[in-house]
Amino acid sequence: MFANNCMIKIYKFGGASIESSERVVQVAKIIEQALDQKLCVVISALGKTTNALEEIVFSYIENKLDVAKEKTLILKEKHNQYASSLVSKEISMIQEFIEDVFSTIYTIIEEPKEKEAAYYYDQIVSLGEILSTRIIAQHLTENEIPNVWVDIREILKTDNTYKDGVIFWEESLVNALKEIKPLLDKKHVVITQGFIGSTFDMQNVTLGREGSDYTGAVLANLLDAKSLTIWKDVPSLLSADPKIFPNPTPIEEITYHEVIEMAYYGAQVIHPKTIKPLQNKSIPLYVKCFLDEKLPGTKIYNTPQKISYPPLMVLKTKQVLLEVTTKDYSFITEKNLSSIYAYFYESKLKINLIQNAAISFVACVDTHEEKLQHLMKLLQTEYEIKRHDDLFLFTVRHYTQHALKEELKNRKVLLTQKTPETIQLVVQ
Ligand code: ASP
Ligand code: MG
Repeated sequence: MFANNCMIKIYKFGGASIESSERVVQVAKIIEQALDQKLCVVISALGKTTNALEEIVFSYIENKLDVAKEKTLILKEKHNQYASSLVSKEISMIQEFIEDVFSTIYTIIEEPKEKEAAYYYDQIVSLGEILSTRIIAQHLTENEIPNVWVDIREILKTDNTYKDGVIFWEESLVNALKEIKPLLDKKHVVITQGFIGSTFDMQNVTLGREGSDYTGAVLANLLDAKSLTIWKDVPSLLSADPKIFPNPTPIEEITYHEVIEMAYYGAQVIHPKTIKPLQNKSIPLYVKCFLDEKLPGTKIYNTPQKISYPPLMVLKTKQVLLEVTTKDYSFITEKNLSSIYAYFYESKLKINLIQNAAISFVACVDTHEEKLQHLMKLLQTEYEIKRHDDLFLFTVRHYTQHALKEELKNRKVLLTQKTPETIQLVVQ
């Protein structure tokens, strides 16, 4: 049983990896190379389709029906063109499928709004993945890659938290073992959708933006997969964002824990939500480049061995430093702290860094003007507040003096906090 299971591999391709017919040909090549495995492929919506669907929903919600219809028509045309570039034999069947999906959208937006906006959002926005996967599955079939298109809404059951569905694991497991596993055992490639699931009464539910990685991880967990591979347009994870730091170092291997730490400090790497289902079953996650599948990429996993990392850097911009001081120069006590924290909590402001001294409390937060105004109003009843704007929060894990010196040239450091592993600096 186990030996059989352990050969299952999950591949996830994002919207960018399928956005042109050339890229789909490359994706098909990558799938073809794995045909000796039991392969389940999770795919996102085509290119920026999710954003386009969101715009349709927002127009509908704002009662701009003409705008919603016009945007729907444009998106339908885009999918028809895309389908024509990838499918030939059964093009009329696919066109009919596209027609059906878009008529679902028209039906929704023509009806009066009776439910919450998030409900309509999910009924419409979830359709991007339905479209892309159906077209790609047909393309693969016509290119002799045996595959079965699976509607993931029949498998992944969630509650009705629209826009952020919570998976019902037990029911989803039963479905995955009953519907997906036998197909994989027969060596059919399974093509399915990321980002979506459904309630027990088959209402569409999305799992949060960029949720396809999470779907890949959930399926890997349910099917006891050997690995999950997320195919991206970058060669690997990097030690820093190349848009901010020139020449970051590629990371060959990294632990789940380290990835979660990086995400916590603000790195746009893999979302911690995606890590958890994998970590629970020690399933490694590979990040690979679909443009050149031979590149080594990054392996994210659990290892008892100590990995030696380059300095991993994260920069948060638009930071505000709030200096909160007692009005009568009395000490900041636990009582003060607990009320200060309560004010932050009430204002829904996440604290990125804190430090407290005898009569003051300093916190670094993102610039959310409305929330900040609310917070400052609360604090001002008891404290003096000084506010410093337009700052950066610079975090380095596994820092070296050399790396810090390089990066902090010409910068004024306002605050430093460090542990043996992590240094955080608020800089101007
Ligand atoms: N298509 C969805 C989004 O763009 C899910 C994903 O791409 O992961 O948010
Ligand atoms: Mg997407």
